[in-house]
Order: sequence, then C-alpha cells, then structure tokens
Amino acid sequence: MSTALEGRDFAGMAALVTGGASGIGAATAALLLRRGARVAVLDRDPAGAPPGTVPVTADVTDADAVGTAVATAVDALGGLDVLVGNAGIGAVGTVEDNADAEWRHVLDVNVLGLVRTARAALPHLRRSAADRPGRASITHTCSIAATAGLPQRALYSASKGAVLSLTLAMAADHVREGIRVNCVNPGTADTPWVGRLLDRAPDPAAERAALNARQPTGRMVTADEVAAAIAHLASPAASGITGTALAVDGGMQGLRLRPV
Ligand code: NAD
Repeated sequence: MSTALEGRDFAGMAALVTGGASGIGAATAALLLRRGARVAVLDRDPAGAPPGTVPVTADVTDADAVGTAVATAVDALGGLDVLVGNAGIGAVGTVEDNADAEWRHVLDVNVLGLVRTARAALPHLRRSAADRPGRASITHTCSIAATAGLPQRALYSASKGAVLSLTLAMAADHVREGIRVNCVNPGTADTPWVGRLLDRAPDPAAERAALNARQPTGRMVTADEVAAAIAHLASPAASGITGTALAVDGGMQGLRLRPV
C-alpha cells in the first residue's frame, strides 16, 4: 500500500531488514524502498523478499551465516545506515507446555538473532554515524507480549521482554556513537504468521472474525501499519528518539473499553 503522504526521506540511505521476506518485515522493506532507500532483506527463506530489494540468505541462529550475509548486503548496498531486526518466531503455551529445547530455540531466534545481527551491523552503522551523522539507527520488532501478561505465551513473552530490555540497553550503549535504537510493539498484526495460526482452528474464518472482534478497533493492525511505525523510528525525522518502544496495537495496551 502506497500513500500520497510518502516522501523519499530515505533517499541515499541503505537499509537491512531481517525477516524481510514475509509479513511485517516484507512490508517494511517495501516501504523503505518506496521512500528511497537501497534495501537488503536477510531471511532464512528470502523467496518472498519484495522486488527491488537485495535478498541474502541466513538463519539468524547461525552467527557465521549472519556475518557473511550482512557483509554481502553491505557490499551490495554500498554501506549501511538502517538496521531493522525483525526476524522472529512464535510459541504457544504455559511454562509446563514448552520443553527446554523449545525455550532455547525461540530465545536463540528472537533474542540472540538480534544480538548476532547487531554485532555484524554495528561497525557499518558506526561508519554511517561518523560519515553521515543523523542516519544510523536500529529498530527491533518487539511485541505487546513484552509487557502485557498474555495467557498461553510464557516463552514468547519472555523472549519479547528480553527484546525490550535489549533495545533499551543498546540505546544506552550506542547513543554517544550517534546510533539510535528503538523498538515497535505490535499487537495482533494480520500477517502470514497469524494466518498460519488461524488455519489450525476448526473454522479459520470464524476464528479470524473472533480475533478481529477482540481488538479495540474491531480489526487487527496491518503489516503496513507496523511498517509505517518502524519506518518513522528509522527515519531522519525521528532524530530525537532513542530508547523508545512504540505500540502499534490499535489501542490494545492502552485502552480499557469496559468500566472497571
Ligand atoms: P512472518 O512469519 O510473516 O515473517 C517472519 C519472517 O522471519 C519470515 O520471512 C521468516 O522466514 C523469517 N524468519 C523466521 N525465523 C528466522 C530465522 N531463524 N532466520 C532468518 N529468518 C527467519 O511473521 P510476522 O508476523 O511478520 O512477524 C515478524 C516479527 O513481528 C516477529 O519478530 C514477531 O515476533 C513480531 N510480531 C508479530 C506480531 C503479529 O501479530 N504478527 C505481533 C507482535 C510481534
């Protein structure tokens, strides 16, 4: 979805989006491209990377593969100003439902995946901050699960709580280097991931209607709406914003629609 309000505020900038071959990441990569950035997509399966982006293949659990993919992307783009750490996976259950191996795997993807990507990208972002001040940023896709206390999401929530704390700590570590670090907290976003969850229900259409009805706005947020928030935090217009979590949840976190 392109809007008349979009300018080319990323012109001359280079961006890397992890998990950019589907859902929120793909919408973000496409939006940054429309707004003038050169964009690379790092994904374990980059087939769905938006046309016009540079696809690089890596699983974020593999530090060597991430290092090679980031280097390839930076070579192709001629530098790096914007990192969007978005690759992530879900997990359903209480602490009694997920085995240690599942905990390790989800934390490996959702938390260490961001750490590995940032480690590989930071030398390039430092160069951006030194050569082209005001451009360097990292934006993570976190979740309202980081703060909300959602049922049946113990492992996923713990992973996103770690993403929120990691984001704040990184913002502190890199602020004097001129690298801003923020995150977005989507509520329920209508992406292929949610589609896969709905498909497991006996009546996916009825489940989708019920899920929409549970949202304060009456509908899930879209991947494009989350992408717009990520792009804002990554844009030069957000030069005064670091160490912030921006909710894109249709009011799920802030509103109490029933009297208490
Ligand atoms: P999605 O499944 O549509 O897309 C995720 C992308 O990440 C895919 O292209 C996948 O190949 C890639 N990926 C997954 N694991 C990877 C790995 N180990 N290495 C490399 N790439 C990998 O999901 P989405 O809904 O767009 O979710 C994107 C992010 O948004 C995730 O971090 C998720 O936790 C977060 N989020 C989603 C929602 C939601 O309701 N959809 C809500 C809150 C937060």
